[in-house]
Amino acid sequence: MVYENPDGVMIGLEIHVQLNKLNTKMFCGCSTQYHNAGPNTHVCPVCLGLPGSLPVINKRAVEYAIRIGLALNCDIVEQTQFHRKNYYYPDLPKGFQTTQYDFPIASGGKVVIEGEDGEHVVRITRAHMEEDPGRLMHIGSIEKSKGTLIDYNRSGMGLIEIVSEPDMRSPKEARRFLDKLRNIMEYLDVFDSDLEGAMKVDANVSIMGGDRTEVKNISSHKGAERALLYEIMRQKNLLRRGGNVVMETRHFDEARGVTISMRTKEEEHDYRYFPEPDLVPMRVADWAPSIYEALPELPDAKRERFVSQYDMADMHAKALTSDIRVADFYELVAAVIDPRTAAAWVADVLKGELNYRDLNITSFTVDDIVEIIKLVVEGKITEKSGVQVIRTIMDEGGSPQDIVRQNGLLRVEDDIVTQAVSEVISENKDALSDYIAGKGKSLNYLVGQVMKKTNGRADARQAREMMLEAIDRINK
Ligand SMILES: [Zn+2]
Repeated sequence: MVYENPDGVMIGLEIHVQLNKLNTKMFCGCSTQYHNAGPNTHVCPVCLGLPGSLPVINKRAVEYAIRIGLALNCDIVEQTQFHRKNYYYPDLPKGFQTTQYDFPIASGGKVVIEGEDGEHVVRITRAHMEEDPGRLMHIGSIEKSKGTLIDYNRSGMGLIEIVSEPDMRSPKEARRFLDKLRNIMEYLDVFDSDLEGAMKVDANVSIMGGDRTEVKNISSHKGAERALLYEIMRQKNLLRRGGNVVMETRHFDEARGVTISMRTKEEEHDYRYFPEPDLVPMRVADWAPSIYEALPELPDAKRERFVSQYDMADMHAKALTSDIRVADFYELVAAVIDPRTAAAWVADVLKGELNYRDLNITSFTVDDIVEIIKLVVEGKITEKSGVQVIRTIMDEGGSPQDIVRQNGLLRVEDDIVTQAVSEVISENKDALSDYIAGKGKSLNYLVGQVMKKTNGRADARQAREMMLEAIDRINK
């Protein structure tokens, strides 16, 4: 199957990844742990841009940037340099942003995603280092607010901006790309995606070869998909009415699910880029090989290893490696339980129940799932009861043993099922003769009666088999 892309959609993304696992900001010693602090408590002359203050490059931030570049299959530049991007906006009191221009630390990479028609390559144009601006807060909506409050705690946080080529052909592909990118960053242990402002997205979108618009500052992956769906529909309607898409920057109003025109887009020369005179160029070429050697196993490699080492379906390997915490969790379970059985329970059941509750794997313990799987494998509880135990732990807490005992989930013995089957047969002569006469549905009714008599503790599949055997004996 080849995806036709009927509207000629081209989406390129710019993603800002905040290096919130660093201890200090990009160019000063301020702590990055500001997320629960009062406004303007994590600031100093450098990140407030006071005259006379001088920046110092955070060495580990450069290391993280190289790590990210390598993980995205980019080339690492020989020598890198910072530039000033000049513009005045109150969230950047210096009057410029320290960023990179013609010597980004990494360029020319690629990421493979699950596209509309199978594996799809999204090219990475570049990845560069820069600093986060402060945070503006508007009371009410951005359009109607009477004033703006500014918190500079975020100002000067290390950022990596990753720019893709316009290779995504639908909002769904854009979302998958973002998911994949977040996954890679988590494998690299360079950021914590749960923190506010960890990842921000600007999306460029055009249709039918027309001009593109840029939707700014989208804060979630779901938001990106919605913003793009809206923007594509808006552009289509505009063309249908004979209008033209103009190149502009738009803001996504998450609450209303619409994009709003903010300003026509600046040209690059508007920013008057020039080399940052306070920071010397940095030679990084010799540094990259040792960082490459130390890269952890990345999602695609782990997925392949899971398939070969644990002999599991690719679908399970994909589900288990799409979050490093789930992958680590699984490997602990697979160390004590048959790996294929463990894969099915963790990927299908546990992950499904967690997603349904918007929880992540840290809310469940390896010991509990191992105990539950063992109870099922040893035939002490049914699969259905196993799922019930998982749900109860998530919703109410408790240990598997206690939940099994308190809810009477221990599976009934075979002879109790046999007893139930013969009782059902003698009490339901009509249904029985219906079934023998060819009404297949009557079997479900009979099995249902067995389940009822055993209070659901019989294994449904086993009850069905025993019922069929009993009918066979009668019918001979
Ligand atoms: Zn500072």
